[in-house]
Amino acid sequence: MDILAHGLWGGVGFYSYGKKRFAAAFLLGMAPDLLSFGLFHVTRPGWLKLRLLGQISGPPPLSTLPSYLFQAYNLTHSLAVWALFFGLLWIVSRRPPWVWLAWGLHIVCDIPTHSSSYFPTPYLWPFPTPFVEGVPWTAPWFMMANYTALLAVYVGTFLYVRKRNLVKSS
Ligand SMILES: [Zn+2]
Repeated sequence: MDILAHGLWGGVGFYSYGKKRFAAAFLLGMAPDLLSFGLFHVTRPGWLKLRLLGQISGPPPLSTLPSYLFQAYNLTHSLAVWALFFGLLWIVSRRPPWVWLAWGLHIVCDIPTHSSSYFPTPYLWPFPTPFVEGVPWTAPWFMMANYTALLAVYVGTFLYVRKRNLVKSS
């Protein structure tokens, strides 16, 4: 899925808990891509500029990507690593770190939305992972359906929060 949609899906469940929780979940929802492809884009500003100008399109060819990107992608897109981290945070803070569910949701959403030819989701890494032949998230019909669903869920959540606040203040 694209990074903005990841942030929006990650944040929506926390929207009713206030701006800070929403912002944290929004960022954590995008974090797996920010800490992998984001790093690549920051270190290759020329590539990003050409892409934004429309002089190149599509994802960067696998052969041009540095090896650290693949390692970062494995680390940030593994449910095994995420579960370990979630458990450790739970032990340290003595309560479930709910907002980190946004990161786990990112991985779950990536599994069916990546084809096996370009960064299939290594959701069990470092264990052997049977890759899923997903529907590429770049397909226009998928983008349309995904953002329509997001719009519907955000409108529903907004109406719920407004009604709750009205009940509270009356
Ligand atoms: Zn991702």
